[in-house]
Amino acid sequence: MEEAFNRAIWEERLIGQAWTKDSIYENLEALCDLGGRFAGTPGEAAARAWLAERFHAIGLSNVHLEWYDYKAWERGPCQAEMVFPARHPLASALALVYAPPTSPSGLEAKVIDVKHGSATEFDAHANEIPGNIVLADSGTPYGYRRRIHRREKYMRAVKMGAAGFIFSNHLPGQLAPTGSLQPGQEAEIPAIGISKEDGFFLCRNARRGEVRVNMQIDSRTYPARAAHVVGEIPAAEMAPHILIGAHYDGHDLAESAMDNGSGIALLLALAELFAPLAGKLRYPLRFVALATEELGLVGSTQYVDNHRHEINDIALMINLDSGVQGGVGGFLYNGFPELAETMQQVIAEMHYPLILSPRIISASDNMPFVLAGVPALNPFRRDLTISAGRGYGHTIADTLDKVEERDLRENVMVIAQVLLRLALWPGQIAQHLGPELLMDILRQQNLEESLRLRQIWPDFGAADETT
Ligand SMILES: [Zn+2]
Repeated sequence: MEEAFNRAIWEERLIGQAWTKDSIYENLEALCDLGGRFAGTPGEAAARAWLAERFHAIGLSNVHLEWYDYKAWERGPCQAEMVFPARHPLASALALVYAPPTSPSGLEAKVIDVKHGSATEFDAHANEIPGNIVLADSGTPYGYRRRIHRREKYMRAVKMGAAGFIFSNHLPGQLAPTGSLQPGQEAEIPAIGISKEDGFFLCRNARRGEVRVNMQIDSRTYPARAAHVVGEIPAAEMAPHILIGAHYDGHDLAESAMDNGSGIALLLALAELFAPLAGKLRYPLRFVALATEELGLVGSTQYVDNHRHEINDIALMINLDSGVQGGVGGFLYNGFPELAETMQQVIAEMHYPLILSPRIISASDNMPFVLAGVPALNPFRRDLTISAGRGYGHTIADTLDKVEERDLRENVMVIAQVLLRLALWPGQIAQHLGPELLMDILRQQNLEESLRLRQIWPDFGAADETT
């Protein structure tokens, strides 16, 4: 009875602080003041130092940086224009992350429009793709069960022999999308992002006959170092811990406020709210501000590899990424059956409307953990309709005005309540999954082809070679 009584008091305190602490929004502002925090830039380094300082100020234990080597990418000038049937600049064009440079005169070829870039849409143009430039938008065909990721479309273009790749936004607003082409390495073929408006212009012309585009990219891929910022709240005894992760790197176009300033603001808020509970929880909490997510989950993949020997000590991973954009909220449990059961109980106790979904977001930091069998939870408060895509994410419009303080506070409140219950959970939160069950879940969610194309389908052992 005593524990329940204590929990109720803590819970009241957490809810009250979620709505009253000024630091919650101030942290987000401070982070946005550092710019987009693209990996390898001074803004990213400043964010890392600021986070370590915040972790210390909050009173987390064992605050440290975990360094690793990776390959950074730097954007140079980029230009693209339609050169046939008439000259028309594609003013929105920007190089996608890890795009290799072209020759100074640029890459010029015919444009092949594969619409949303599903396998069927690619196959319809199989003969025309070799040597030409594939144009795909960021949308997903109607009725598709999952969003088709940029890297999947890009890799399909590469495999089918394309010479270049154009990724057009499917949402309006003169917003060219950025994003990485390859996890952590220079990509095979030149690639640019363009706005929906420029993409529509190309498609309209391509319907009437041949369209040729010239793209000129200058860029550089170079060795660099990054670090995760780690801090802990110890429990009464050593036990498997709950890892709360959020990536602090962003893109070089804007403030990366939604993706993922909002996630870092949540992480800091949770750290601050829970710090006084050191020694009182059943599960220790480990807060990890992850680096280089936007380069293709480079940082979280490195973290999982580096902690492989103690992977069973991670009871649960909670990934805070771009979750604060209004809309109905809830939790994705990444297909882990026992996590679903635990979360059903947690949510039933809270008397608060929350969605619980098995869906796996395969292009965020939860994924390397999921692939290692670690139960993972993605809180969200945004429109997850597949056609909604990323919204303003990865564009010049990912700025602070897009994150409502109220949404941020509501997220803090809900996630803090859930985290409190999970951190006091009397038994195992959820079992780690072995390769067979994991493979079933990935296949159920129609992810095999995507993961294979993106070269992150795990090596499930020799048995898989025959399937
Ligand atoms: Zn993100």
